[in-house]
Amino acid sequence: MRIDVVSIFPGYLAPLELSLVGKARTAGLLDVRVHDLRDWASDKHRTVDDTPFGGGAGMVMRPDVWGAALDDVLAGAAPSARLVVPTPSGTTFTQRTAEALAHEQHLVVACGRYEGIDARVAAHYRERGVAVDEVSIGDYVLNGGEVAALVVVEAVARLLPGVVGNPESLVEESHGAAGLLEYPVYTKPPRWAGLEVPEVLLSGHHARIARWRRDEALTRTAERRPDLVVALDVAGLDTHDLAL
Ligand code: SAM
Repeated sequence: MRIDVVSIFPGYLAPLELSLVGKARTAGLLDVRVHDLRDWASDKHRTVDDTPFGGGAGMVMRPDVWGAALDDVLAGAAPSARLVVPTPSGTTFTQRTAEALAHEQHLVVACGRYEGIDARVAAHYRERGVAVDEVSIGDYVLNGGEVAALVVVEAVARLLPGVVGNPESLVEESHGAAGLLEYPVYTKPPRWAGLEVPEVLLSGHHARIARWRRDEALTRTAERRPDLVVALDVAGLDTHDLAL
């Protein structure tokens, strides 16, 4: 997969050189290219923003600068490239969104700043037949789209074949196919700060461990995210689950 990220702060994307994403890039599993939006500005000050039509606080990012940048980046892209625009007014970015994006060949992420990007940019690329996803990473407002781009790239990249060393790690995770949060996890030592690891996990009894983990996942999800429990498919619950 190829991912282009366009930002006025390309240095903000440096963490994409680290850890699993960095290793995936080195291994050729992921091609990430970061671009400075100001390279497409046309004046000597490399201006990318202007005052909002209709008045009001702050500045808005200019559509002509974004258009020039995205035309160039998309020109080198697969015809099916998707444009991802982080914005607090977008649809919520979830594990399902990450899974859908992980099937794409090419993503282009446009990081806004100030009051955001002129609304004609998303409209223009949609009119041209480009799939545009305006996504929010949560109900809060950040200063810019770079942190959201890091979230999107990491969530998508770890789903690509070969990126996470043991693909089993992806199976029982929170927000996975079961629709539950993950059960609590423990490692050595078995006693720490006066706290014991649950006895069942030391038993070596696989069926009991699986049942305990399922119960813990259900209980934790009910306590922390009752909205996820409401969304569970009842057909996927056994009698033990329903008794909890
Ligand atoms: N005026 C905008 C509004 O109220 O919807 C907020 C603009 S915000 C200060 C600047 C940029 O940060 C946005 O264009 C977007 O790229 C990014 N951003 C801020 N919060 C975000 C969020 N929750 N999810 C995704 N991107 C976000």
